[in-house]
Amino acid sequence: MSEPYIETYYRDTLNSNEERQSLSENIDTEVCVIGGGLAGLSTALGLVEKGKRVTLIEANRIGWGASGRNGGFVAKGYASGYRSLVKKVGLEHTQALHKLATAGRSLIKERIQKYDIECEPLRQGVLGVSWNNKPEAVHDYIEFMRKDLNAPLEFWSTEKVREVCKTERYYAGFYSPEDYQFHPLNYARGLAEAIESHGGTIYTGTKAQKIEEAGSGYEVHTPKGKIKCDQVVLCCSIYVDDLNKKLKYAAFPVYTFVMVTKPIPEDRLNAALNTDYAIFDNRYAQDYYRRLPDNRILWGGRVSLKGAPANLAQIMVKDLLKVYPQLSDVVEADYAWGGELCYAPHKMPQIGQLKPGYWYNTCFGGHGLVPTSVGGDVVSSAIAEGDERYKLFKPFSKLWFAGGPLSPYIAQSVYYLWRARDLLISMKK
Ligand SMILES: Cc1cc2nc3c(=O)[nH]c(=O)nc-3n(C[C@H](O)[C@H](O)[C@H](O)COP(=O)(O)OP(=O)(O)OC[C@H]3O[C@@H](n4cnc5c(N)ncnc54)[C@H](O)[C@@H]3O)c2cc1C
Repeated sequence: MSEPYIETYYRDTLNSNEERQSLSENIDTEVCVIGGGLAGLSTALGLVEKGKRVTLIEANRIGWGASGRNGGFVAKGYASGYRSLVKKVGLEHTQALHKLATAGRSLIKERIQKYDIECEPLRQGVLGVSWNNKPEAVHDYIEFMRKDLNAPLEFWSTEKVREVCKTERYYAGFYSPEDYQFHPLNYARGLAEAIESHGGTIYTGTKAQKIEEAGSGYEVHTPKGKIKCDQVVLCCSIYVDDLNKKLKYAAFPVYTFVMVTKPIPEDRLNAALNTDYAIFDNRYAQDYYRRLPDNRILWGGRVSLKGAPANLAQIMVKDLLKVYPQLSDVVEADYAWGGELCYAPHKMPQIGQLKPGYWYNTCFGGHGLVPTSVGGDVVSSAIAEGDERYKLFKPFSKLWFAGGPLSPYIAQSVYYLWRARDLLISMKK
């Protein structure tokens, strides 16, 4: 059964809520993309832009999963972090992955402009702040990012951070001028319209149930029709289930959460969060947040084994007030929701082919807006033009067993470990 959008601030501020049709016949196409999140949409758009005949199917609605529920931080990089990437694959390889991320971030903006996608507020600038007083560690990170990856990060002293984030919780940080924020669900729906403007076809409420080899291609079975295609791309994230057991067992789910406050009087908000930059802190279990146009705060953080706890809104408000206690009499939650992330143990995307023409483009974790743009670009270029850049993800594309039914428990334990480490760090400051 197809599911509607869950209740979020994004759903309630959609440009349009038009529903597409579900598939009810047998059809032929060149490439069938499965999954209407940002990974599937970016792949399908890349393909139609390069002249391929494409059909995208989505079990629920466009951007129904993490892609329509996230924090809206369009920041370069991958969930694993660049320093750990250097350790895993060396500097040169990391630089090549970073180059892809830089291009992926630009591609999002180019598409917003080219297809006139209204996904405001498109606000420039992300500020990373420290929970502990270690300015030398911030300098060290900036130096690494500048020297090795040519990223123009700017050092902000504790005083400068506290001019905009009026809290004693934070210390020195770095400002990233090229990262930005947007409305992810309007962006996802804008990509879907762009695909259709190039002649691509999209069916929502259409779940792929089985994929079979058929001649030199594949046949995708859905409840009311089959799609015969030359190539198939799975962009199903954590919802892949038994459609492909290898992908299912190579990933584990992590739930994470967002709360949006009711509008806050402007003078009171300015006396706490006096900036339009998106903010995140440097803890393992970090808070990330930003102001919305109508003076609300969108506050993200936490992970959990299961879905949202019943008192999610209160928990998130408490987290916000830990940082900005001066807002205690004006903060009230209006929305609180959760979303499911797809992680591989190495925290990098899984991109590759299981068999010739049977592609996967998945596992973007909690840092997926830029990487899904990258994944869509490299997979669509590989299919349409034989481009081999997708092979840069080869070190991460082996589908190792990630814990199966135990994986959520492992994820929760890791989170508790992170929180314990955060506590130790804050005690040492
Ligand atoms: C609360 C939250 C906050 C986040 N904040 C940020 C952030 O600020 N910045 C950032 O970069 N990243 C963030 N992320 C992560 C980012 O949203 C994800 O990495 C990214 O959206 C993943 O995209 P996706 O297309 O792989 O998966 P999804 O968006 O989950 O899409 C997968 C889609 O596939 C469909 N599907 C699955 N199986 C089938 C099938 N058999 N047939 C048809 N369709 C199927 C599903 O219905 C779903 O719509 C956040 C995520 C969450 C949950």
